[in-house]
Amino acid sequence: MRRREGVGERGGPVTRRVEVTTHHCCETMTSRVNVDCDQHDDPVTCPDTLVDFRAEFQEYGLIIHDGGASSITIDFCPWCGRRLPESQRDRWFDELERRGIDPWEDEVPAEFQDDRWLTSLHQE
Ligand SMILES: [Zn+2]
Ligand SMILES: [Zn+2]
Repeated sequence: MRRREGVGERGGPVTRRVEVTTHHCCETMTSRVNVDCDQHDDPVTCPDTLVDFRAEFQEYGLIIHDGGASSITIDFCPWCGRRLPESQRDRWFDELERRGIDPWEDEVPAEFQDDRWLTSLHQE
């Protein structure tokens, strides 16, 4: 993985992307999900990125690079063939509803923006 040192950006320390803690099925998937591109903030706009992993939903999608933000959700890993985790999208909405949060209207809590909400549920 490339990690370029910051070139004189206000002299501050290089901010690293948040490490994704999710364990992926194989090394290829891990490297495909964690493409470290410093030219595109949004993975869907980066031509080097094939897989969009939505940590909060545990969903893997193949990005369709048509200029939009569309992707095709996949159930199996294209590289190792293993079944990918079940989508938690429905549960995500259920859990937010349980907390009285409307994700379309209200601000989504930080732990619901990645897979931390799943971890906290496991500890309950
Ligand atoms: Zn795999
Ligand atoms: Zn890029």
